[in-house]
Amino acid sequence: YTLLAIESSCDETSAAVLANGKIQSNTIATQTVHHKYGGVVPELASRAHQQHIIPVVTQALAEANITKNQLDAVAFTRGPGLLGALLVGASFAKSLALGLNIPIIAVNHMQAHILAHFIDDPKPSFPFLCLTVSGGHTQIVRVDDYLKMEIIGETQDDAVGEAFDKTAKLLNLPYPGGPLIDKYAQAGNPKAFVFPQVDMPGLSYSFSGIKTAFLYFLRDQTAKDAAFVDNNLSDICASIQYTLVKILLKKLIKAAKETGIRDIAIAGGVSANSELRKQIMLEGADRNWRVYIPKFEYCTDNAAMIAMAAYYKAMAGEFSSQDISPMPRMDF
Ligand code: ATP
Ligand code: MG
Ligand code: FE
Repeated sequence: YTLLAIESSCDETSAAVLANGKIQSNTIATQTVHHKYGGVVPELASRAHQQHIIPVVTQALAEANITKNQLDAVAFTRGPGLLGALLVGASFAKSLALGLNIPIIAVNHMQAHILAHFIDDPKPSFPFLCLTVSGGHTQIVRVDDYLKMEIIGETQDDAVGEAFDKTAKLLNLPYPGGPLIDKYAQAGNPKAFVFPQVDMPGLSYSFSGIKTAFLYFLRDQTAKDAAFVDNNLSDICASIQYTLVKILLKKLIKAAKETGIRDIAIAGGVSANSELRKQIMLEGADRNWRVYIPKFEYCTDNAAMIAMAAYYKAMAGEFSSQDISPMPRMDF
Protein backbone atom coordinates (compact mmCIF):
# COMPACT_ATOMS: atom_id res chain seq x y z
CA TYR A 1 0.00 0.00 0.00
CA THR A 2 1.46 3.36 -1.02
CA LEU A 3 0.19 6.71 0.16
CA LEU A 4 1.14 10.36 0.11
CA ALA A 5 0.38 12.43 3.23
CA ILE A 6 0.20 16.19 3.58
CA GLU A 7 0.44 18.26 6.76
CA SER A 8 -0.45 21.96 6.72
CA SER A 9 -2.18 22.70 10.04
CA CYS A 10 0.09 25.45 11.29
CA ASP A 11 3.44 26.76 10.07
CA GLU A 12 5.04 23.64 8.63
CA THR A 13 4.28 22.47 5.09
CA SER A 14 5.17 18.82 4.98
CA ALA A 15 4.69 15.81 2.71
CA ALA A 16 5.59 12.18 3.31
CA VAL A 17 5.35 8.92 1.41
CA LEU A 18 4.55 5.63 3.10
CA ALA A 19 4.93 2.30 1.31
CA ASN A 20 4.75 -1.23 2.70
CA GLY A 21 3.93 0.14 6.14
CA LYS A 22 7.15 2.18 6.29
CA ILE A 23 7.94 5.86 5.86
CA GLN A 24 9.95 6.38 2.66
CA SER A 25 10.32 10.17 2.80
CA ASN A 26 9.36 13.10 5.00
CA THR A 27 9.94 16.59 3.58
CA ILE A 28 9.33 19.65 5.74
CA ALA A 29 9.35 23.35 4.83
CA THR A 30 9.29 25.44 8.00
CA GLN A 31 7.88 28.91 7.49
CA THR A 32 10.18 31.68 8.61
CA VAL A 33 7.93 34.66 7.76
CA HIS A 34 6.38 34.54 11.25
CA HIS A 35 9.58 35.02 13.25
CA LYS A 36 9.50 38.77 13.23
CA TYR A 37 5.88 38.86 14.42
CA GLY A 38 6.51 36.76 17.52
CA GLY A 39 3.87 34.19 16.58
CA VAL A 40 2.16 32.54 13.63
CA VAL A 41 0.20 34.98 11.43
CA PRO A 42 -2.63 32.88 9.93
CA GLU A 43 -2.92 34.68 6.58
CA LEU A 44 0.83 34.54 6.02
CA ALA A 45 0.78 30.86 6.92
CA SER A 46 -1.83 30.10 4.24
CA ARG A 47 0.16 31.93 1.58
CA ALA A 48 3.40 30.23 2.54
CA HIS A 49 1.67 26.81 2.39
CA GLN A 50 0.54 27.65 -1.15
CA GLN A 51 4.10 28.50 -2.15
CA HIS A 52 5.62 25.43 -0.51
CA ILE A 53 3.14 22.67 -1.18
CA ILE A 54 4.10 21.72 -4.75
CA PRO A 55 7.89 21.71 -4.16
CA VAL A 56 7.46 19.81 -0.89
CA VAL A 57 5.22 17.13 -2.46
CA THR A 58 7.50 16.84 -5.49
CA GLN A 59 10.52 16.31 -3.25
CA ALA A 60 8.74 13.77 -1.04
CA LEU A 61 7.78 11.70 -4.09
CA ALA A 62 11.27 11.97 -5.57
CA GLU A 63 13.02 10.96 -2.34
CA ALA A 64 10.71 7.96 -2.02
CA ASN A 65 11.37 7.08 -5.64
CA ILE A 66 7.65 7.00 -6.34
CA THR A 67 5.58 8.48 -9.14
CA LYS A 68 2.08 9.86 -8.62
CA ASN A 69 0.58 6.96 -10.52
CA GLN A 70 1.84 4.47 -7.94
CA LEU A 71 -0.19 6.09 -5.15
CA ASP A 72 -3.15 4.23 -3.66
CA ALA A 73 -4.45 7.15 -1.58
CA VAL A 74 -3.75 10.73 -0.55
CA ALA A 75 -4.00 11.72 3.12
CA PHE A 76 -4.16 15.15 4.69
CA THR A 77 -4.57 16.82 8.08
CA ARG A 78 -8.23 17.67 8.56
CA GLY A 79 -7.72 19.45 11.90
CA PRO A 80 -7.22 20.81 14.46
CA GLY A 81 -5.33 23.80 13.11
CA LEU A 82 -5.67 27.13 11.33
CA LEU A 83 -8.55 27.07 8.85
CA GLY A 84 -6.71 28.83 6.02
CA ALA A 85 -3.66 26.64 6.50
CA LEU A 86 -5.70 23.43 6.61
CA LEU A 87 -7.59 24.46 3.46
CA VAL A 88 -4.39 24.51 1.41
CA GLY A 89 -3.46 20.92 2.32
CA ALA A 90 -7.03 19.65 2.07
CA SER A 91 -7.68 21.25 -1.33
CA PHE A 92 -4.39 20.03 -2.71
CA ALA A 93 -4.96 16.47 -1.46
CA LYS A 94 -8.52 16.36 -2.78
CA SER A 95 -7.56 17.69 -6.22
CA LEU A 96 -4.65 15.32 -6.56
CA ALA A 97 -6.77 12.35 -5.50
CA LEU A 98 -9.57 13.38 -7.86
CA GLY A 99 -7.12 13.63 -10.74
CA LEU A 100 -5.63 10.23 -9.97
CA ASN A 101 -9.02 8.71 -9.18
CA ILE A 102 -7.88 7.41 -5.77
CA PRO A 103 -9.42 7.83 -2.29
CA ILE A 104 -8.60 10.46 0.31
CA ILE A 105 -7.94 9.92 4.01
CA ALA A 106 -8.65 12.68 6.53
CA VAL A 107 -6.39 12.60 9.59
CA ASN A 108 -6.70 14.11 13.05
CA HIS A 109 -3.43 15.97 13.76
CA MET A 110 -3.42 15.15 17.49
CA GLN A 111 -3.98 11.43 16.87
CA ALA A 112 -1.15 11.60 14.36
CA HIS A 113 1.23 13.12 16.93
CA ILE A 114 0.57 10.01 19.03
CA LEU A 115 0.79 7.55 16.14
CA ALA A 116 4.24 8.93 15.32
CA HIS A 117 5.33 6.32 17.87
CA PHE A 118 4.60 3.60 15.31
CA ILE A 119 6.99 4.94 12.70
CA ASP A 120 10.03 3.24 14.24
CA ASP A 121 10.84 0.67 16.91
CA PRO A 122 10.40 0.36 19.82
CA LYS A 123 6.63 0.66 19.49
CA PRO A 124 4.43 1.05 22.57
CA SER A 125 1.99 -1.73 23.36
CA PHE A 126 -1.70 -1.11 24.08
CA PRO A 127 -3.03 0.27 26.27
CA PHE A 128 -0.60 3.10 26.84
CA LEU A 129 -0.81 6.65 28.10
CA CYS A 130 0.45 9.47 25.92
CA LEU A 131 1.26 12.93 27.20
CA THR A 132 0.69 15.04 24.10
CA VAL A 133 2.33 18.41 24.54
CA SER A 134 2.43 20.92 21.72
CA GLY A 135 1.86 24.51 20.68
CA GLY A 136 -1.90 24.25 20.93
CA HIS A 137 -2.58 21.24 23.16
CA THR A 138 -1.71 19.60 26.46
CA GLN A 139 -3.44 16.26 26.85
CA ILE A 140 -3.13 12.97 28.65
CA VAL A 141 -4.54 10.38 26.27
CA ARG A 142 -5.39 6.78 26.99
CA VAL A 143 -4.58 4.86 23.81
CA ASP A 144 -6.35 1.50 23.51
CA ASP A 145 -5.69 0.89 19.85
CA TYR A 146 -4.35 2.73 16.78
CA LEU A 147 -7.62 4.55 16.23
CA LYS A 148 -9.20 4.11 19.63
CA MET A 149 -8.08 6.77 22.06
CA GLU A 150 -9.60 8.95 24.72
CA ILE A 151 -8.48 12.21 26.33
CA ILE A 152 -8.50 11.65 30.10
CA GLY A 153 -6.93 14.96 31.09
CA GLU A 154 -6.17 18.26 29.38
CA THR A 155 -5.44 21.91 29.88
CA GLN A 156 -8.28 24.20 30.84
CA ASP A 157 -6.56 27.25 29.33
CA ASP A 158 -3.14 27.63 27.63
CA ALA A 159 -1.10 24.79 26.15
CA VAL A 160 2.32 24.11 27.63
CA GLY A 161 3.99 24.96 24.29
CA GLU A 162 2.23 28.30 24.43
CA ALA A 163 3.57 28.81 27.97
CA PHE A 164 7.10 28.12 26.67
CA ASP A 165 6.63 30.47 23.72
CA LYS A 166 5.00 33.30 25.67
CA THR A 167 7.63 33.12 28.41
CA ALA A 168 10.30 33.28 25.73
CA LYS A 169 8.60 36.29 24.19
CA LEU A 170 8.72 38.10 27.55
CA LEU A 171 12.45 37.39 27.54
CA ASN A 172 12.67 38.96 24.07
CA LEU A 173 13.52 35.66 22.40
CA PRO A 174 12.24 35.11 18.84
CA TYR A 175 9.32 32.80 17.96
CA PRO A 176 9.08 29.89 18.56
CA GLY A 177 10.85 30.36 21.87
CA GLY A 178 10.43 26.86 23.33
CA PRO A 179 13.59 25.43 21.78
CA LEU A 180 15.56 28.54 22.87
CA ILE A 181 14.43 28.23 26.49
CA ASP A 182 15.65 24.64 26.30
CA LYS A 183 18.98 25.79 24.87
CA TYR A 184 19.68 28.55 27.43
CA ALA A 185 18.47 26.32 30.26
CA GLN A 186 21.35 23.91 29.61
CA ALA A 187 23.77 26.24 31.39
CA GLY A 188 21.37 27.32 34.14
CA ASN A 189 20.33 26.32 37.64
CA PRO A 190 16.75 24.96 37.60
CA LYS A 191 16.26 25.86 41.26
CA ALA A 192 17.53 29.45 41.00
CA PHE A 193 13.99 30.87 40.92
CA VAL A 194 10.75 29.34 42.15
CA PHE A 195 7.46 29.78 40.27
CA PRO A 196 4.01 28.84 41.56
CA GLN A 197 2.35 25.58 40.52
CA VAL A 198 -1.44 25.84 40.68
CA ASP A 199 -3.09 22.65 41.81
CA MET A 200 -5.83 21.76 39.35
CA PRO A 201 -8.52 19.16 40.04
CA GLY A 202 -8.24 15.64 38.64
CA LEU A 203 -6.07 15.30 35.57
CA SER A 204 -6.55 18.89 34.41
CA TYR A 205 -3.76 21.31 33.63
CA SER A 206 -3.59 25.10 33.72
CA PHE A 207 -0.74 27.18 32.34
CA SER A 208 -2.17 30.69 32.27
CA GLY A 209 -1.35 31.37 35.93
CA ILE A 210 2.33 30.63 35.61
CA LYS A 211 2.56 32.87 32.58
CA THR A 212 1.10 35.78 34.55
CA ALA A 213 3.29 35.02 37.57
CA PHE A 214 6.29 35.08 35.28
CA LEU A 215 5.26 38.45 33.84
CA TYR A 216 5.10 39.98 37.35
CA PHE A 217 8.33 38.28 38.36
CA LEU A 218 10.15 39.89 35.42
CA ARG A 219 8.56 43.25 36.04
CA ASP A 220 9.64 43.26 39.71
CA GLN A 221 13.15 42.01 39.03
CA THR A 222 13.87 44.40 36.18
CA ALA A 223 12.57 47.30 38.30
CA LYS A 224 15.36 46.49 40.78
CA ASP A 225 17.99 45.68 38.15
CA ALA A 226 17.55 46.67 34.51
CA ALA A 227 20.11 44.06 33.42
CA PHE A 228 18.38 41.24 35.33
CA VAL A 229 17.38 39.24 32.25
CA ASP A 230 20.75 39.64 30.53
CA ASN A 231 22.64 38.57 33.63
CA ASN A 232 20.39 35.64 34.56
CA LEU A 233 19.02 34.30 31.27
CA SER A 234 20.21 30.72 31.76
CA ASP A 235 18.94 30.49 35.35
CA ILE A 236 15.59 32.02 34.38
CA CYS A 237 15.15 29.60 31.46
CA ALA A 238 16.23 26.58 33.53
CA SER A 239 13.83 27.51 36.35
CA ILE A 240 10.79 28.12 34.19
CA GLN A 241 11.46 24.95 32.19
CA TYR A 242 11.89 22.94 35.39
CA THR A 243 8.55 24.22 36.71
CA LEU A 244 6.65 23.52 33.49
CA VAL A 245 8.06 19.98 33.32
CA LYS A 246 7.22 19.34 36.98
CA ILE A 247 3.61 20.39 36.36
CA LEU A 248 3.40 18.08 33.33
CA LEU A 249 4.79 15.08 35.18
CA LYS A 250 2.68 15.47 38.30
CA LYS A 251 -0.58 14.75 36.45
CA LEU A 252 0.98 12.12 34.25
CA ILE A 253 2.09 10.23 37.36
CA LYS A 254 -1.41 10.58 38.75
CA ALA A 255 -2.92 9.23 35.51
CA ALA A 256 -0.54 6.27 35.53
CA LYS A 257 -1.50 5.45 39.12
CA GLU A 258 -5.24 5.79 38.47
CA THR A 259 -5.27 3.69 35.31
CA GLY A 260 -2.57 1.23 36.36
CA ILE A 261 -0.98 1.70 32.94
CA ARG A 262 2.80 1.62 32.88
CA ASP A 263 3.48 2.05 29.17
CA ILE A 264 4.01 5.80 28.94
CA ALA A 265 4.70 7.89 25.85
CA ILE A 266 5.21 11.56 25.11
CA ALA A 267 4.38 13.28 21.82
CA GLY A 268 4.11 16.70 20.18
CA GLY A 269 6.54 19.59 19.83
CA VAL A 270 7.29 19.97 23.54
CA SER A 271 8.31 16.30 23.72
CA ALA A 272 11.53 17.54 22.09
CA ASN A 273 12.31 19.34 25.37
CA SER A 274 15.45 17.92 26.95
CA GLU A 275 14.31 18.44 30.54
CA LEU A 276 11.01 16.64 29.89
CA ARG A 277 12.87 13.79 28.18
CA LYS A 278 15.29 13.54 31.10
CA GLN A 279 12.67 13.78 33.85
CA ILE A 280 10.32 11.25 32.30
CA MET A 281 13.16 8.73 32.05
CA LEU A 282 14.00 9.29 35.73
CA GLU A 283 10.37 9.00 36.85
CA GLY A 284 9.93 5.98 34.62
CA ALA A 285 12.94 4.23 36.15
CA ASP A 286 11.54 4.86 39.64
CA ARG A 287 8.07 3.62 38.76
CA ASN A 288 8.84 0.74 36.48
CA TRP A 289 7.36 2.40 33.43
CA ARG A 290 8.25 1.53 29.87
CA VAL A 291 8.87 5.02 28.49
CA TYR A 292 8.57 5.90 24.79
CA ILE A 293 10.15 9.08 23.48
CA PRO A 294 9.84 9.98 19.80
CA LYS A 295 12.81 10.89 17.62
CA PHE A 296 13.29 14.67 17.44
CA GLU A 297 12.18 14.83 13.79
CA TYR A 298 8.79 13.30 14.71
CA CYS A 299 8.07 15.55 17.72
CA THR A 300 7.16 18.77 15.93
CA ASP A 301 4.80 18.89 12.96
CA ASN A 302 5.62 16.53 10.12
CA ALA A 303 3.73 14.56 7.46
CA ALA A 304 5.31 11.22 8.40
CA MET A 305 3.02 11.03 11.41
CA ILE A 306 0.03 11.91 9.19
CA ALA A 307 1.05 9.10 6.82
CA MET A 308 1.30 6.64 9.71
CA ALA A 309 -2.17 7.57 10.99
CA ALA A 310 -3.54 7.39 7.45
CA TYR A 311 -2.07 3.93 7.00
CA TYR A 312 -4.04 2.61 9.99
CA LYS A 313 -7.16 4.36 8.72
CA ALA A 314 -6.71 2.80 5.27
CA MET A 315 -6.27 -0.65 6.84
CA ALA A 316 -9.52 -0.04 8.77
CA GLY A 317 -11.26 1.10 5.57
CA GLU A 318 -11.76 4.65 6.89
CA PHE A 319 -11.74 6.77 3.75
CA SER A 320 -13.45 10.13 3.21
CA SER A 321 -15.52 11.51 0.39
CA GLN A 322 -14.60 14.57 -1.68
CA ASP A 323 -17.10 16.82 0.13
CA ILE A 324 -15.19 16.64 3.43
CA SER A 325 -14.01 19.99 4.79
CA PRO A 326 -11.27 21.00 7.25
CA MET A 327 -12.11 21.22 10.95
CA PRO A 328 -10.11 23.90 12.81
CA ARG A 329 -11.37 22.54 16.14
CA MET A 330 -11.49 18.82 15.99
CA ASP A 331 -11.90 16.26 18.74
CA PHE A 332 -10.96 12.61 18.47
P1 ATP B 1 -0.74 21.46 17.83
O1 ATP B 1 0.01 20.21 17.54
O2 ATP B 1 -1.27 21.54 19.22
O3 ATP B 1 -1.75 21.77 16.80
P2 ATP B 1 1.57 22.82 16.82
O4 ATP B 1 1.38 21.87 15.72
O5 ATP B 1 1.84 24.25 16.54
O6 ATP B 1 0.33 22.68 17.80
P3 ATP B 1 3.95 21.38 17.39
O7 ATP B 1 4.60 21.68 16.08
O8 ATP B 1 3.61 19.99 17.68
O9 ATP B 1 2.73 22.33 17.73
O10 ATP B 1 4.91 21.93 18.52
C1 ATP B 1 5.37 23.25 18.50
C2 ATP B 1 5.59 23.68 19.93
O11 ATP B 1 6.65 22.91 20.50
C3 ATP B 1 6.00 25.14 20.08
O12 ATP B 1 5.27 25.70 21.15
C4 ATP B 1 7.48 25.04 20.43
O13 ATP B 1 7.98 26.11 21.20
C5 ATP B 1 7.53 23.76 21.21
N1 ATP B 1 8.87 23.16 21.28
C6 ATP B 1 9.59 22.62 20.27
N2 ATP B 1 10.80 22.21 20.72
C7 ATP B 1 10.83 22.49 22.06
C8 ATP B 1 11.79 22.32 23.10
N3 ATP B 1 12.97 21.75 22.87
N4 ATP B 1 11.45 22.73 24.34
C9 ATP B 1 10.25 23.29 24.59
N5 ATP B 1 9.31 23.50 23.66
C10 ATP B 1 9.60 23.10 22.41
MG1 MG C 1 5.16 24.62 14.06
FE1 FE D 1 1.34 19.71 16.04
